[in-house]
Amino acid sequence: MDDVIIVGGGHAGLYTAYRLACEGLRVRLFDQKDKIGYSVVCTGVIGAEAFSKFDLPKEHIIGAVQNVRFVSPFGTVLDYSPPAPLAWIVDRARFNLHFAEQALGHGAQIITSARVTDIHIKKQNVSVCTVLQDGEVKTWDAKAIVLATGVNYKLFDAVDLIPAKKFLCGAQAQIPYEGDDRTQIYVGREVAPGAFAWVAPINHRGARVGLLCEEQPLIYIRRLLDLVRPGWRDDIPESDIEVRPVAQGPIDRSYTDRVLVVGEAAGQIKTTTGGGIYYGLLGAEFAVETLKKAFQKNQFKASFLSNYERLWKKRIADELQFGYYFRKLFSKFSDEQIEEFLSRVKEEDVLNALQQEADFDWHKSVIFSIFNIPTVRRMIQQPF
Ligand SMILES: Cc1cc2nc3c(=O)[nH]c(=O)nc-3n(C[C@H](O)[C@H](O)[C@H](O)COP(=O)(O)OP(=O)(O)OC[C@H]3O[C@@H](n4cnc5c(N)ncnc54)[C@H](O)[C@@H]3O)c2cc1C
Repeated sequence: MDDVIIVGGGHAGLYTAYRLACEGLRVRLFDQKDKIGYSVVCTGVIGAEAFSKFDLPKEHIIGAVQNVRFVSPFGTVLDYSPPAPLAWIVDRARFNLHFAEQALGHGAQIITSARVTDIHIKKQNVSVCTVLQDGEVKTWDAKAIVLATGVNYKLFDAVDLIPAKKFLCGAQAQIPYEGDDRTQIYVGREVAPGAFAWVAPINHRGARVGLLCEEQPLIYIRRLLDLVRPGWRDDIPESDIEVRPVAQGPIDRSYTDRVLVVGEAAGQIKTTTGGGIYYGLLGAEFAVETLKKAFQKNQFKASFLSNYERLWKKRIADELQFGYYFRKLFSKFSDEQIEEFLSRVKEEDVLNALQQEADFDWHKSVIFSIFNIPTVRRMIQQPF
């Protein structure tokens, strides 16, 4: 019998596997994909704080977010260039593979092309049913299970947990790109209704062009491609455009008897920008801390594992909630209001004034400060 089975070999599951294996636990991870690290729909932007907190590998960095240009619906531009990069862009496949290698190096077992189809929580253990590459159906037992399945909630019924309820749509394409190194952020109802779009250049080789929006991501990503270079709407084949939902907000409960949920599956992803790498790692770290104690005390009941939820929600739930309401408010702005909002922020040189408070990973205080600027406050108090 294993100590812990992890379902999902995204960065959250892999990091959990690595850290639990470091604690001397017998860990087995299943992923339904045939290769770890590939086909992750993600721009790979990670703030500097995550690099130092988790000692992340720097060799997979392929770009920096330092010079940022915000583009309004009517073409007003607002440039922001802080003295140091706000974040780095990583090769997402290699980044995940790094954690896989670390997990394997510490004795974890990783089984790919293995889809977990059912889970049975029992008094003494938990049984996990898998369908393996050759179609073989096999059952595995462990003392605890970690669900790190991203936005795939098919197993939630089996463990009596409730999936995330709110989502944005995400879309992205990687394209050849010869512009400068500036990261561009586009806002406006015609570009990305309810959220924003981006062009993130990577090492002069190309750019990741993507967006979050409320609906019809394929239509908006084609418009965005055309905005970046006229004609690309039709030049980029459908197969090069990746689309997937992005969870918005924490799930109600991320634990039950012998089960913890980590990463985007738990809603550990920013509700402002859709960044899930750092918050997923934070969640994974709390899961490891809780499971370590569970094994020391041989306690796997929901009442004991509930500490996990208390820890991670204490750290990020406020940010998630505040960010969600900010984004919802922003999504009600007309293009004219967005234009006015950006013009005010530009005129008052807000971004430079708030440089001390601006933080790539924690947005609450900067949002609060922006809303406290009298002209901006007056503007958002006007009826929509
Ligand atoms: C367009 C876009 C751009 C983004 N850009 C960024 C960014 O720049 N920075 C950032 O921080 N975040 C970004 N994100 C969000 C980020 O990619 C995710 O939050 C993060 O990858 C989630 O990691 P995870 O490990 O929780 O889940 P995932 O990476 O989704 O991994 C889940 C894994 O579980 C496996 N799985 C699911 N069900 C089963 C099953 N039943 N059996 C076996 N395996 C299963 C899947 O195959 C998958 O490999 C972006 C998202 C989108 C859509």
